[in-house]
Amino acid sequence: MGSPLSPALLAIAASALAMTAIVGVRYLITSGLFALVTHRVRPGLYAGMNRQIRAEIGWSLLSAAIYGLPSGIVAWGWQAHGWTRIYTQASAHPLWWMPLSVILFLFAHDTWFYWTHRWMHRPRVFRIAHAVHHASRPPTAWAAMSFHPLEALTGAVVVPALVFLIPIHAAMLGLVLTIMTVMGITNHMGWEIFPRALVHSRLGHWLITASHHHRHHEQYRCNYGLYFRFWDHLCGTDRGVSAP
Ligand SMILES: [Zn+2]
Ligand SMILES: [Zn+2]
Repeated sequence: MGSPLSPALLAIAASALAMTAIVGVRYLITSGLFALVTHRVRPGLYAGMNRQIRAEIGWSLLSAAIYGLPSGIVAWGWQAHGWTRIYTQASAHPLWWMPLSVILFLFAHDTWFYWTHRWMHRPRVFRIAHAVHHASRPPTAWAAMSFHPLEALTGAVVVPALVFLIPIHAAMLGLVLTIMTVMGITNHMGWEIFPRALVHSRLGHWLITASHHHRHHEQYRCNYGLYFRFWDHLCGTDRGVSAP
């Protein structure tokens, strides 16, 4: 019955649902794991925060559905029509392209995040789209995807757009998504998981970990970056690290 579009629409809907489930389950497992580690390493850190954590989980699962839609559409197009520049044969590009493609993805995502994040700190936009994320005071391991749907949408389009622009091996895309997931959680966990020697090193001067993002949640108008401190340093918005 119906138009010839129906089977394709059904396939797209199935793909979006599958992606939503993958993102949602991935969130529950990884955030749950880091919450468990937190319980062991910093017992009592999340004491009395059950209400906030429930809200963080609710917003994050809603975000999973918003992430699932564009990624589901693109995953369907990749399988059904060969969309995107994702490749699976390692020999399709020089080997050195693999690490470089990962860095390019992270830097592009970081750039997009920095500028949309700064925009979301304009008072009007903040109240509508970003206050939800800052309701986590201090954030917990469950806050990684705790975004208002509008903010979730700005994040959800990044990787699905980049796979059309930058060639990337499927395994490297998996690595990008893993870094995205782990850093999203550890940056909000409320304590620093990386060694002090790294955080306070020359390399640490350019990398974002919990010590850096925690200060953003404390002071709001600084430390806007996602992975790297490049834009924060360049634009004078870097206020160093705190000691969560
Ligand atoms: Zn945050
Ligand atoms: Zn913010």
